[in-house]
Amino acid sequence: MIRHDMVIIGGGPAGMAAAEAAYNAGVSDILILERDVRLGGILNQCIHNGFGLHTFKEELTGPEYAARYEKKIEDLHIPYELQTMVVDLGVDEDGDKIVTCMNRDKGMYRIKADALILAMGCRERARGSMNTPGFRGAGVFSAGTAQLYVNINGYMPGRSVVIVGSGDIGLIMARRMTLEGAKVKMVVEIQDHSGGLKRNIIQCLRDFDIPLKLSHTVTGIQGKDRVEGVYVAKVDEGYNIIPGTEEYVECDTVLYSVGLIPENELTRKLGAKMNERLNAPETGQDLMLSIKGVFACGNVLHVHDIVDHVSEEASNAGRNAAAYVMKGSVGEDPGGYVDSEEKNVYRPGVDEDKLTCIMCPNGCSLTARLGDDGSVSVSGNLCPRGVKYATEELTAPKRTVTTTVRLLGADCKTLPVKSADTIPREKVYDVIADLSKVVVDAPICVGDVILKDAAHTGVDIVSCADAGAAGKR
Ligand SMILES: Cc1cc2nc3c(=O)[nH]c(=O)nc-3n(C[C@H](O)[C@H](O)[C@H](O)COP(=O)(O)OP(=O)(O)OC[C@H]3O[C@@H](n4cnc5c(N)ncnc54)[C@H](O)[C@@H]3O)c2cc1C
Repeated sequence: MIRHDMVIIGGGPAGMAAAEAAYNAGVSDILILERDVRLGGILNQCIHNGFGLHTFKEELTGPEYAARYEKKIEDLHIPYELQTMVVDLGVDEDGDKIVTCMNRDKGMYRIKADALILAMGCRERARGSMNTPGFRGAGVFSAGTAQLYVNINGYMPGRSVVIVGSGDIGLIMARRMTLEGAKVKMVVEIQDHSGGLKRNIIQCLRDFDIPLKLSHTVTGIQGKDRVEGVYVAKVDEGYNIIPGTEEYVECDTVLYSVGLIPENELTRKLGAKMNERLNAPETGQDLMLSIKGVFACGNVLHVHDIVDHVSEEASNAGRNAAAYVMKGSVGEDPGGYVDSEEKNVYRPGVDEDKLTCIMCPNGCSLTARLGDDGSVSVSGNLCPRGVKYATEELTAPKRTVTTTVRLLGADCKTLPVKSADTIPREKVYDVIADLSKVVVDAPICVGDVILKDAAHTGVDIVSCADAGAAGKR
């Protein structure tokens, strides 16, 4: 049986950061196992910007953030096996961890390891978890599945959409479907507030006049072969449907964005002690499970809102696992769990006049007013950039455009791209229209210019991913 000092399951941001940190701490015999066709995890389909403000001090798209870590893995020559699914985990009588995996080349095979790092991420709750009555017609997707279809496979799941759940994934998909030409009828949220970031309420809903129905839920889905519409009703404080408030909304697609669950079937097979409420393994501050030498990090441990926290936590797991391999213990005062800071969510009735500064990770909540003379008064900012941001937002708002263009000559049909700088908000649709005509040939590298002076804005469009080179994307 092949043996490695350390095996990491999952090549998303958590797996890659853990590998880098373990290598830098002195363990070079590492193997990453990833079931997808590329490293990067969920970030490959999150083509929007908003990643990396803490780690890289700049705003990146998901694929760009993933590419930075992929480069580290390549530069350190850390081996990884793609399209390799781990199907079972165990521990033998000597305390060695046994990983059972399979891929097309080798079939089913086993690997022994001194230490394991679990970095399998999470999965979405589906329609079934909501018990929405109705037929099982086509057109019902989880938001992440729709994101995969649009951003990676280049397919449109539908044209007329209702989104259930106003967390960040739901909000981001509302904008994405709109930019791709769909009509998003509404976002329905059962709570009296959105779980998404304030900036996403503004940039994903308000920019496109998409209604947010708070304290509402979908009570039924109509349509036998294909979704034809949904019933939407108001709920009271106990989430009970208020009779007489039901309305019918025609649509051909329903996207569910109703929460994420850590991916822990393998952890259960291993026999690790679980926190049943969170569907996650119990760990100490050192991120080690109840089974010695097995560590967990990232979304498999708890769902993180911000990928920078995933990377930080995973680096701690990598260092701790390296200490375990080299010394048999983690040592005193190890770094561990990285919790999300309180989220800057939108509060109806309170935040209408407020702006969230997006110039740095502080995310200051600004109160900004435009005077009759055109002057702007701003408070709540921790630095002068807040004034600049609020003034621009009230007088001439600008946005970064992120989308995909058609790609030829690679194993993926789409290439994620972004505007190299912000552009006037009213030009967003023009830029998208220009880009809908663009077809690019691989190979392409991150940062390559795809379109110059998009829609006469003076701003170029650049690639956010490598494509074609070394078989990527
Ligand atoms: C739609 C969406 C939008 C987001 N927007 C933002 C944002 O704007 N800013 C921000 O900072 N963060 C954002 N996040 C959060 C951030 O992207 C995630 O927290 C982060 O990607 C989690 O990293 P991870 O490595 O734990 O999991 P993942 O990225 O999910 O990676 C897990 C990897 O494990 C692999 N895997 C799983 N099981 C197996 C197995 N059995 N065998 C082999 N491989 C396996 C998977 O294929 C995957 O590649 C967003 C997340 C989502 C879903």
